[in-house]
Amino acid sequence: MAQSALDLFPILPAVLSTEDAQLIEASVAQFGAPLLLLDCDSVRQQYRALSNALPNVTLHFALKPLPHPAVVDTLLEEGASFDLATTGEVELVASRGVPAHRTIHSHPIKRDADIRAALEYGCNVFVVDNLNELEKFIPYKNEVEILVRLSFRNAEVFADLSKKFGCSAQDAIEIIDRAQAIGVRIKGLSFHVGSQTLNPQKYVDAILACKAVMERVVELGLPALSTLDIGGGFPVTYTQPVMPIEEFCKPINQALSSLPETVQVLAEPGRFIVAACMTSVASVMGQAQREGQTWYYLDDGVYGSFSGIIFDHGQYPLYTTKQSNDMHSSVLAGPTCDSIDVISDHIMLPKLNNGDLIVGRMMGAYTSATATDFNFFKRAQTIVLNDVMADNRMIG
Ligand SMILES: *Cc1c(COP(=O)(O)O)cnc(C)c1O
Repeated sequence: MAQSALDLFPILPAVLSTEDAQLIEASVAQFGAPLLLLDCDSVRQQYRALSNALPNVTLHFALKPLPHPAVVDTLLEEGASFDLATTGEVELVASRGVPAHRTIHSHPIKRDADIRAALEYGCNVFVVDNLNELEKFIPYKNEVEILVRLSFRNAEVFADLSKKFGCSAQDAIEIIDRAQAIGVRIKGLSFHVGSQTLNPQKYVDAILACKAVMERVVELGLPALSTLDIGGGFPVTYTQPVMPIEEFCKPINQALSSLPETVQVLAEPGRFIVAACMTSVASVMGQAQREGQTWYYLDDGVYGSFSGIIFDHGQYPLYTTKQSNDMHSSVLAGPTCDSIDVISDHIMLPKLNNGDLIVGRMMGAYTSATATDFNFFKRAQTIVLNDVMADNRMIG
């Protein structure tokens, strides 16, 4: 897509630029609907923007929001590192030729088979947040380095990841002490302030709390910690503008500069890297009048690409390819026979015909990743634009 989705604050629904509308219509003519258009240029732009905003931080892309091979290839070429959480994610990066030293495994709860799969690949940095998990590493103590995950509750975010994972500062000291006793090497600390965190102070508070734990570790005569992993959570603009990333990261960098120079800092961004890269295209299958509104039934819905409405509390900027001053309160519904399958209620739309297109922006993170085949409606096909291969073809 020529236009960056980050520049748009549409009053719903907005009309697409002619150039984008043409690309979308041509794609649907070639591949049918529903589609997801994945633009690797957007992945590059977002990765570079966050790298520039956090100059002393190694970025490990968290695969969870969009585990797509084209995203892995693009980021590999950009020099990114990767954050893995499952054996499936290990297999994906391994299949794309990601060197294992550029990965960490950050799921706080793992089966022995998951640990072995990651070690076999060559990833040897793992995360724990309790003693039970720490002890799973006794058989591998000569190979592994551990990050201890702390929890900082955050009620304001899309997903408060500190409710399910992470320990207190006091528990962290206990884990580090026990690790010393059993001979497992502790590399550092990690946290995740919550996805789509709008307030950078959450990171600052967490960094300063981790700094205090690091100081306490030294006071207790335990080996000094070398690493701090500040997690993911960096916000993007959906329908409400968020702080530009440069500005957002300023207080974070300031807090990081108070750590000893020997401490290496990592982050695990997911959403920020991929939210903007996907555009969804659904077509109208049919329509009905109900209680004064037109219901448009699309071939994609909350069981498909719009699953983030349910799982991620997502609200995506929506567009039509039609221009009209004659707007009507309408409902956009998905194709399944379930009544919760509604994308948008009371949305002002021009009169649409069957076959007309509804386009969703900012559909890259936590959308297709959580889609289902419920009711035998196939997931939208993903079409990759501007990928690494296309670059190479142009060069070659
Ligand atoms: C989901 C997740 C991420 C990515 O979080 P975003 O909010 O998408 O940036 C990073 N690290 C861990 C451990 C996660 O579970």
